[in-house]
Amino acid sequence: LSEGPAPLGRLVAELSRLPGIGQRTAQRLAFHLLRADDEEARALAAAILEMKEKVGLCEVCFNLAEGPRCRICEDPRRDTTVICVVEEPADVIPIERTHEYRGLYHVLGGALSPIDGVDASDLKIAELLRRVGDGGVREVILATNPTTTGEATALHIAEQLRGQATVTRLASGLPIGADLEHADEVTLGNAFTGRRTLE
Ligand SMILES: [Zn+2]
Repeated sequence: LSEGPAPLGRLVAELSRLPGIGQRTAQRLAFHLLRADDEEARALAAAILEMKEKVGLCEVCFNLAEGPRCRICEDPRRDTTVICVVEEPADVIPIERTHEYRGLYHVLGGALSPIDGVDASDLKIAELLRRVGDGGVREVILATNPTTTGEATALHIAEQLRGQATVTRLASGLPIGADLEHADEVTLGNAFTGRRTLE
């Protein structure tokens, strides 16, 4: 937006860096904010800053947390004998929405991908092994994505946990190559109830 005022151009440039926001959408959003009253624009800016300041990772499961522990780890009604392993914090949300699962989580922070230079030490795998090693965990559900990297990650973890807990994998039925994040509730719920034990 080189022909407009510089501050407008800067906002368009920042907005267009967001995922899924192209140049045209960024311009539309910027013009919307320009016309909006001060309060609306301030509320948006404040929400972004507050999130960056207050939201971090849970010290136990690495889910998103406001404070040292996430809401799920803090909830005394959760079943602490089951841990569901997912790739990203965004994966927790669709699983919670199914209401099929009452255990705890462990967020790896990605999946094993040698091509992208992601190995076991880049993920929270050692932390998971420690949690299971501390005892009291009877089942670990591997809910990594049904992608090549997600499957490789599940196999790696299953091997590491052999003999320490029952390791299960979500039933097939999730679209191959899709992200958990985009699975619908019914499919994901069925994948949970139909999970199978890995040998
Ligand atoms: Zn947590």
